[in-house]
Amino acid sequence: MRWIDVPHAPEVKAQWRSLFPDRIPPALLWKGIEGVGKTAAAWMLTKALLCSQGDPVEPCGTCRNCQLVDRLEHPNLLLLVPTGGKGSLEEGVQRFRQTLLNNPFLLLSEWELALSGAKGSLSLGVDTVRRLHEELSLVSPGKTWRVVWFWHAETLTRQAANALLKIIEEPPARTLFIFLTNQADTLPVTLRSRCQTWRFPPLSKTQLEQLAGAPLPTPMIILAQGSYGRLRRLRDASMEKSIRSLQTWLRTLLQPEADPSPAIEELLQAPQLGEVLVMGAILVREHPELTVAQKAIGMDILLRIAEGVEANLQPALLLWEATLSLKEKWKQPRFLWEWIPV
Ligand SMILES: [Zn+2]
Repeated sequence: MRWIDVPHAPEVKAQWRSLFPDRIPPALLWKGIEGVGKTAAAWMLTKALLCSQGDPVEPCGTCRNCQLVDRLEHPNLLLLVPTGGKGSLEEGVQRFRQTLLNNPFLLLSEWELALSGAKGSLSLGVDTVRRLHEELSLVSPGKTWRVVWFWHAETLTRQAANALLKIIEEPPARTLFIFLTNQADTLPVTLRSRCQTWRFPPLSKTQLEQLAGAPLPTPMIILAQGSYGRLRRLRDASMEKSIRSLQTWLRTLLQPEADPSPAIEELLQAPQLGEVLVMGAILVREHPELTVAQKAIGMDILLRIAEGVEANLQPALLLWEATLSLKEKWKQPRFLWEWIPV
């Protein structure tokens, strides 16, 4: 990991320099959409803090400590990650290391896939916090720092958050807690109030293209919604194919004479159809040819069938129903839509 790979590097570095060394708070709460680079920034900050030589924000990159942080194997870096309750915590962390090394912009849904089907049930439970408590009491606080990441802190259970409060209230010396989350509001106020909050704004088109190393088509930019993690996922070959089918289908809906059957057949092959339909809702929201009312109806229908697909209802039936209904709703001339009293 290098600062050059961290989209918000200049802001993070400046902020950290302003705190180092006497004003470092015991806990940081980093909020921002998924895949915006919070974990990558935490990675670099940890490396700088644990590096045996050098500057507060510029790690040397070659010492033993830097190498260990690069592999996420430094004993003073504790990773707390949500798991599905299967397997031991240590196995979960080991899997997380490997997964994150392959993709520092990992999304929670991708982590769920890596844990093979723990969908929707991932949490940071009280046993994780107990383990943290043990780890922190094992090593006596010395001259070196310890850094604790709470990856997707919003998955902390209430019980775990309560257990954590005691640790944060009386933090061990030279210990930095970093809470990484895309839903800070769901964390208990008691916990939030003990943290210094930093905000990570969504990435601009230029930043996304810089990270991707290539110019990107507009639908990609729209669907990435300022997240490089999402963009990475969209550029996956099977996802790219599914999005092309989605775009073809949406086009046939806007053309009264077009036959939607081939597009529907293609779309039904999409491995993550539910997710693709949610993307469809985003494309509809940004569509330049639709009125506000048409967008609202389109998004509603697409999100509804996405839910149906996720609930294992028959995708072909859902898609045909949506097709007929949208063709009907979208064929009206614009002025009619805009003048219908609500
Ligand atoms: Zn170093």
